[in-house]
Parts: sequence; C-alpha cells; structure tokens
Amino acid sequence: MDFTRLRGVGVSPGIALGRAALVGRVLFSSRKEYVPPHRVEDELQRLKTAVAKTRAELAELKDTIRNKVGEEHAFIFDAHLLILDDATLLSSFEKTIREENVRAETALSEAYEHYRKIFDGLGDEYFKQRKSDVADVLTKVYRNLAPAAEESADDVRDKILVAHDLLPSEAALRLSQGNVLAVALDMGGSTSHTAILARSLGIPTVVGLRDIAATIKNGDLLIVDGTDGEVIINPPLTVQKEFQGKKAKYDAYGRELKKVAALRSQTLDGVRFSPMANIELPEEVAHALSYGAEGIGLFRSEFIYLQRSTLPSEEDHYEIYARLAREAQPRPVYIRTIDIGGEKNLPQLSIQKEPNPALGLRAIRFSLQNPGLFRTQIRAILRASTLKNVRILIPMITEVEEIGEVKAVFRDVQGELAAKNIPFDPDIPLGIMIEVPAAAALADVLIKDVDYFSIGTNDLIQYYLAVDRSNEFVSYLYKPLHPAVLRLLKFVVEAASRAGKDVTVCGEMAADPLAAMVLFGLGVRTFSMNPIFIPRVKNALRSVSSRTVRRALAKALTLRTAQEVEEQLIEALLVEHPGAFLMGY
Ligand code: PEP
Ligand code: MG
Repeated sequence: MDFTRLRGVGVSPGIALGRAALVGRVLFSSRKEYVPPHRVEDELQRLKTAVAKTRAELAELKDTIRNKVGEEHAFIFDAHLLILDDATLLSSFEKTIREENVRAETALSEAYEHYRKIFDGLGDEYFKQRKSDVADVLTKVYRNLAPAAEESADDVRDKILVAHDLLPSEAALRLSQGNVLAVALDMGGSTSHTAILARSLGIPTVVGLRDIAATIKNGDLLIVDGTDGEVIINPPLTVQKEFQGKKAKYDAYGRELKKVAALRSQTLDGVRFSPMANIELPEEVAHALSYGAEGIGLFRSEFIYLQRSTLPSEEDHYEIYARLAREAQPRPVYIRTIDIGGEKNLPQLSIQKEPNPALGLRAIRFSLQNPGLFRTQIRAILRASTLKNVRILIPMITEVEEIGEVKAVFRDVQGELAAKNIPFDPDIPLGIMIEVPAAAALADVLIKDVDYFSIGTNDLIQYYLAVDRSNEFVSYLYKPLHPAVLRLLKFVVEAASRAGKDVTVCGEMAADPLAAMVLFGLGVRTFSMNPIFIPRVKNALRSVSSRTVRRALAKALTLRTAQEVEEQLIEALLVEHPGAFLMGY
C-alpha cells in the first residue's frame, strides 16, 4: 500500500487525524545543524536558489510598491537588493557551509548573529536602524530555504503543523493561535520548552522525525500519534479506521481520568493535598482547572517574551497577570519572574551567547543585572495582585544576598505604587525556587527571609547529580529517586515545615505518581505539574493512607540506590493498597 509511516518521539500524548500545514521557520536558531561532507554541495545549491528567489521577489515587490505608492517608497527595496548583492556577505555564507559542514540555515543564523552584534555596538541610531534591513533580507533568504517555502502556511488552525524545527518562541506564537490539531517536527526532544508547551495545550506532538518537512506537501492527510510517537502520511481508509478506534479509546481513557478532577484531594485517611498546574500561557487556565488544578502553581512568565518580537510593556505584563488572577480566583497563582537563558534565548533582548548557559546569566541573575526590565515586571505583578491570590516566585536563587537585592527592588516599587495611590496587595507572598543545590543546603537560613519555597526538581536534580536535563546521552543518570536527592529534599521540606512556611514542588517529579508519594511522605502537600498529569497523581494519592506512605518512605530513606528505593516503595505501597497505581505509573 502506498503510504508512509515515520517513527519519532511522542512528547505530547493523543491522536489526531487531519491535513498538514507546512510551516517555514520564522526566527533564526542558535542551534548548529551539521551535514555530512557529501551534502555540502547540496547546501550551497540550496543557498544559491534561495538567494535567486529572494532577489526576484524583491524586484517584484519594488515594482509593485513603485506602481501603487510611488517611487519614493520603493527605494527601501533598492537597499535590500544591494545587501543581497554584497559579494562579501554571500561568500561568508558559503565559507561557513564549506568549512563547518553545516546547513545553509546555520550559516544564515550565524551571519544574522554577527551583524546583530555589530549594529548593536554602534552608537548611531541610523546605523542601528539598518540592522533591521539586514535582518529583513536574511529572513527572506532564510524562508526561501524551506523545502516548500512558497507554500509555507500562515494559518495552522484546524490543521496539523509540520515543520523542520519549532523554537519555543515560534511555538508560543503558532500554538496559541488556537486549535492546532497536532504537531510533527524533524527536530526536538521531550524536555524542550516546545514539547512542554504542546503538552500544556493538550496538542498531540511527535518530534525527532528527521525529514517529515521535506517529505510531505501542504494538505497531505496525516495521522499523528503522540502517544506512540508515530506519524502516518496519506493513510488508506483501513488505517484511518484503525486509528479512529485507537483515538476513541484514548479519548475515553482521558474522560475517565478527568472524572477524578471533581473528587476531593485527600488520602484514604483524610489528609488533604493540593494539585496545581504549571502553565506557560494565560489561555491555559480553563484547561488546567478542567483537570482539577486547585491553583496555578507555576506561571513561566518568560513565555510572554517568547510570544512576541518586541519587548512587552508594563501594560502587556499587567493584562496577562490580571487575567490569570481573575480566571483562577479564589485559587492562588504563583507568578515566576522571567527565567531566560539556555534554550530560552529571547530575540528582543540581545543576550550574549555563553559557553555554559545552564550555569550562566539565567533567571534572577539576569533580572538583577537588568533592573529596568525587572522593575517593570514586579510593578505589573503587584498591580495585578489586588484580588489577593497572587504570589511572586523568584527562580534560581543561590545565596542570601540575592534575596536582599530582590527585596530592595520589591520595597522600592511598592513605595512608588503607594505614593501614586495605585492599589496592590501589601501581603503578597514572596517565595523562591529551590533549584540550585547551594540554596537547598542553605534552606534553613533562606526560609527566614521568604514566605515560601517552591522546589524546582528539574533543575535541582540536574545541578545536584551533574546530569544535563535535556541530554539524552546521560538521561540514564537522571534519577529523582536517587538516595542523595531524597536526603536533600528531606532537608529542604523539613526546614520549611520547622519555620511554619509552605513548600511546593513544581518540577516534573511532582507529575510522577510514585515520586509524588515520596514527596507526600516527606511532608509536601502542594504539587504543581503539567495539568494533564494531575488526575493520575491525584488518583494515586487518593488510593493510599498517609501512614503507609510515611512508613514506606522511612524504610526507603535507609537504602543505597534509586532502584532499591523504587522497588521497596512499590512493594510496600501495593501490599497495603493494591489499587494505588491503577491509572498508570
Ligand atoms: C524546575 O527547574 O523544576 C522548574 C519547574 O523550572 P523550569 O522547568 O522552567 O526550569
Ligand atoms: Mg528551573
């Protein structure tokens, strides 16, 4: 039968059947994409074709504008054509492709970065403006490199978005347009923020398909199976029927899980807990509540920047935070100040490339070095706090001094608002993420300076075990149940409890039923996770008694390996409560 099956990695579950919309890349990527030496000539040819096509487009645009609006407005395209004809520029692309064995896209991205730096360094406003001309021309060539650029779809609603790659910023723009049926990408990994976003929006997604963007045409019929990591191109009727059956079963399972949302969050012996949602976009609140979220435990505010190409104003921030507070009330909303760096590079913020972004100018470090941006964000959060359900959360705190600096800004902005009679919640809680091992070790000291902790296990485990959270080569070492991790978590949770303050866990660990039991046994009562995982975790915690969990954990804390911990916990819990993991573990 004449149809193609492609295998990839399913990063957001669910099944969709629909027409493909092929999307060209919108932004430049800092990711280097290599090609084997025998493909270098092909890349040079792709570049030549794209440049020729761009030249023809520019000439046509110039004619159209001259005829419709007048000669004086057509000059801009002369400037663009001159840039495109610059021999040094073109030979620099060719040199990069040849010498570094990279795709034409990588050569263009590097050139873009190079010119951005040069223009940003110039004091003269006129020259700074010229940056956008160069960027414009490079973007046009870049788009024309896409295999089916002439068909690149603008509207992905009710379609399956197919692309070579989708940066978090592009994903934020595209996926929030509404009703994208599914996503299929050549590149990507499961912990990327594009994957996190797709999961949050409940969009079935398969990544790592290698060459789907070059294989399909706009309008092809596709099945995307985000649960099993498969994409089928132009399936015959029999296969479509088979998947419709699978989809019906999957959807029924989803509905069954969702029934748990309406049940009380308490263990068999009546101990209460609160599942909350991690979200990236304000549009997700209703979706999160439908899964039983009892609050927004983490709003990753950096996505405000990723969704737009210009800097957000205080009003832009305010509207988003006020909407979150309004839609979630009376439930709490934890707004985390921006955590940029690493793969979350923001085009509008000229961030320097760093050799070790995970250990670099990230999160609160970046905010404290950019006080203007930080104050704007804090002002907007404070203004949105009048319903008294907003909390501020500071990411990547490493030492006491940083809290002091944050508080100074905080007090100053509060003073400013008070002086202008602008209302805000004077009791707004200020908390910190515990995601750097040093902060965890200093938990008993840091808790005195803040109102609560939120443990970011994604980063805490990465830094504590020295295992890159998105590197598949070392993922076998990334173990939330590592005895060393358990000791550290115990110390942090006890420090907060002794001080009578709240502690939340908002890393992926909270989304795993067994790990959630461990956290519960340690004393954690608030678990924030991707909303789709709430029913599973809630169901597991509802099926056990707190006494059994505490006893099983006490034994687990004496063990030497993650595997021993896991086996002992499962055994001890299942003996008492055979149904504990019925909904999956
Ligand atoms: C974490 O590190 O656990 C966390 C929740 O933050 P992020 O995943 O955004 O780094
Ligand atoms: Mg983190």
